[in-house]
Amino acid sequence: MEKRKFRKVMAANRGEIAIRIFRACTELGISTVAIYSEEDKLSLHRYKADEAYLVGKGKAPIDAYLGIDEIISIAKRADVDAIHPGYGFLSENAEFAEACERAGIAFIGPRAEMQRALGDKVSARKVAIAAEVPVVPGTEEPIEHEEEALIFAKQHGYPIIIKAAAGGGGRGMRVARNKKELLEGLVAARSEAKAAFGNPAVFLERYLENPKHIEVQVLGDHHGNLVHFYERDCSIQRRHQKVVEFAPSLSLTQKLRDEICNAALKIAGQVGYVNAGTVEFLLDQEGNWYFIEMNPRIQVEHTVTEMITGRNLVQAQILIAEGKKLSDPPINVPNQSAIAMRGYAIQCRITTEDPANNFAPDFGTITTYRSSAGFGVRLDAGNAFTGSVITPHYDSLLVKVTSWGLTFDEAAHIMNRSLQEFRVRGVKTNIPFLENVVTHPVFLAGTCDTSFIEKHPELLA
Ligand code: ADP
Repeated sequence: MEKRKFRKVMAANRGEIAIRIFRACTELGISTVAIYSEEDKLSLHRYKADEAYLVGKGKAPIDAYLGIDEIISIAKRADVDAIHPGYGFLSENAEFAEACERAGIAFIGPRAEMQRALGDKVSARKVAIAAEVPVVPGTEEPIEHEEEALIFAKQHGYPIIIKAAAGGGGRGMRVARNKKELLEGLVAARSEAKAAFGNPAVFLERYLENPKHIEVQVLGDHHGNLVHFYERDCSIQRRHQKVVEFAPSLSLTQKLRDEICNAALKIAGQVGYVNAGTVEFLLDQEGNWYFIEMNPRIQVEHTVTEMITGRNLVQAQILIAEGKKLSDPPINVPNQSAIAMRGYAIQCRITTEDPANNFAPDFGTITTYRSSAGFGVRLDAGNAFTGSVITPHYDSLLVKVTSWGLTFDEAAHIMNRSLQEFRVRGVKTNIPFLENVVTHPVFLAGTCDTSFIEKHPELLA
């Protein structure tokens, strides 16, 4: 792979992750290009870039950031060397990665064929099986006929989880506890999957009761080098969506950590993985662990890994796309043992959702915004400022707060102090709920499983 120095990079995204990408570029001396929809004409990411271009005029707000041809043509006009897709939108779209390549623009992420091999959960399971990593007992192929589902149920028993092969963000999943729920769920899940992901394929897995979600950050270069950055514990979820994430996990022995991190490297190695990716596992009550999926992109919660390892993952993504080796400065990771962990980091996703109203998204103008600051606090914000207009068009993430402390307890206390310091008026936020989470004794014990929020309705009070 030829090395080249990028002069200009576009973020094909919006909000906090676009700004995160611009910051990494600016630190590397690379100029930045934003795209923004009509609805985002006052959004901060537009103003944080050196250049900004309107995209998707007359299109629906979400579609503006999905128009491959238009985005590529803007990128060419702006003469960018590379495009970073962030997360969501086009980040896992193999056609977009190919379109970039065809246009002579570097795609900051894995190649299209890796996205194809991993982006679909059914094919990702096959990669894991080939790499001899345990997967949750499940169907090898998508379910075509009712009988296949009934045979699986006979073999493995209930509960069963029906999952969309193309699913993401906690959507496209249904739990079935008996035959009726399974048969009805299949029909509903298929049509939901088609509507949400344009692909009706669903498959089955045994549903693990109250597991922990442990995921491993990996990073590979174009020269065959691959390392992991340890794990994140993302067990604190609401409706299978992550709410609070932290690193390292308090539920792993060193032996278990080594096993799971090595399994992540095996899976990534199986496809010759390049750039940043996350390998996700579930850990059951008995200490068994299973691969569930791999996300071939940067994730929302990458900040906690950055805080405990002191490594800038988004910068590393850009440098890898330039053709640099992991050992090259400023990545400076000659081998696995170069990556050390220090302390604990916790991330809370502050959203404009009302916990008192079943987390319904709230909209309007932010009339007061004062954020927290101080020792141990990192903020990655999107449109978080006084006067900002929160619209219903995009996801409700307002600001990510990441706290860091030498111990988990210290990181939790800093997080609580930080959440208390926030003043957000004009729109409702989930801050009161997050405060309840990070002060809860079960949270402070550090060993929550995915049922924590559901089992503790007092968190909503
Ligand atoms: P998505 O791509 O939507 O994030 P995942 O496959 O990563 O979906 O699963 C998200 C969450 O759903 C997991 O963290 C876990 O809480 C739950 N989940 C997924 N598969 C299972 C399973 N087989 N048993 C129990 N819970 C599961």
